[in-house]
Amino acid sequence: MIYFDNASTTKISNLGLESYIKASKESYFNCSSLHKGGLQSNRELNKARNIILESINAQFNDNLIFCSGATEANNMALFGLTKNKSRVLTSVGEHPSIYNTAKALKNSIVDFVPLNSQGQVDIDKYCQMINDNDYDFISIMYVNNETGAINDIPRLVEIAKSKNAKTIFHSDCVQAFGKINVLVDNMGVDAISLSAHKINGPKGIGALYLKNGIHLNPIVYGGGQENGLRSGTENLPAIVAFANVAQDKISNLKQNYNNVLEIKNTILKIFDDKNFDYKINGYKDGSPYILSISLVGVKGEVLLHLLEMDDILIGTGSACSSKSSDNRILSSMGNSKEEVAGNIRLSFGVDNTKEEAEYVANKIIEHCSYLRSL
Ligand code: PMP
Repeated sequence: MIYFDNASTTKISNLGLESYIKASKESYFNCSSLHKGGLQSNRELNKARNIILESINAQFNDNLIFCSGATEANNMALFGLTKNKSRVLTSVGEHPSIYNTAKALKNSIVDFVPLNSQGQVDIDKYCQMINDNDYDFISIMYVNNETGAINDIPRLVEIAKSKNAKTIFHSDCVQAFGKINVLVDNMGVDAISLSAHKINGPKGIGALYLKNGIHLNPIVYGGGQENGLRSGTENLPAIVAFANVAQDKISNLKQNYNNVLEIKNTILKIFDDKNFDYKINGYKDGSPYILSISLVGVKGEVLLHLLEMDDILIGTGSACSSKSSDNRILSSMGNSKEEVAGNIRLSFGVDNTKEEAEYVANKIIEHCSYLRSL
């Protein structure tokens, strides 16, 4: 089977699985227990926390709150970092865990900045909105999960903070972390969301990074774990596995980047060499981990199922929005209805090869000529 749907989730790596099993067997103690088992688990918890904080160049007194994944981290950021009557700015391109959560902020005024044709936040509109309003909280994603478009976060932070230094800036870094550099000091952000299952870690574990001094109101109350900011017995095996896979991804960042770039370029070269009719959603130099294309005259979903019969698994749009026929992100980029319907998303991971890329590119061309001839 060829798996080209890594933006929706990845297969857990041996490192992730083995460290998960080891921690489950040997460190199953409750991190809050006062006996030596609890202390051992608690030490492992803090070691994992420090590994991830170090991997994003955080300061020693910054905070990392483990939770059930980036959906929860994004909910924590939006509900926990805004107040009654906050002015909030986010973008039309965000993952539903930001977009729908922002819409659910009943007592805040929320604005959505549109995207440009390449899938990035429209910088002119952004500047204008910042100029015209006084935002308390801004959330803009680093890498778009549908198109791979990369937002210039340091610039967006600088623009926001030069208008109002007190604006809290959060960034959903799920599709960036472990794939391109996510360094909170360079980015200037106050908070970021992370998820383990996009980087060959286990599902159901993620984290919210908070810069020292940023006050969060918890959304989950209980026994006061995670500094009282996210109650619930810590999922230590998943946390340990998360830290290990993160460390591995950071050490091999460049090598992995070059491998997936070769895969993406191989596909595009075959398309171009064979004069295949396609359009990239986003732009060529976006994240190499994601290739979103529109194929006019083809229904993305039909192509997905034809490829499935060849044992090739791909996506259309994102798995999270694939059930709706409209696509807010592709439409905001100016795509026609036909281009939206003809969208497929290929997303790569560390296990993919150039040979797979060649095979898939040729199969796409073959199926599209058939579908276009009908
Ligand atoms: N943000 C982005 C950009 C994502 O791609 C995803 C996963 N589809 C999420 C948030 C949600 O992450 P999780 O599955 O860990 O809740």
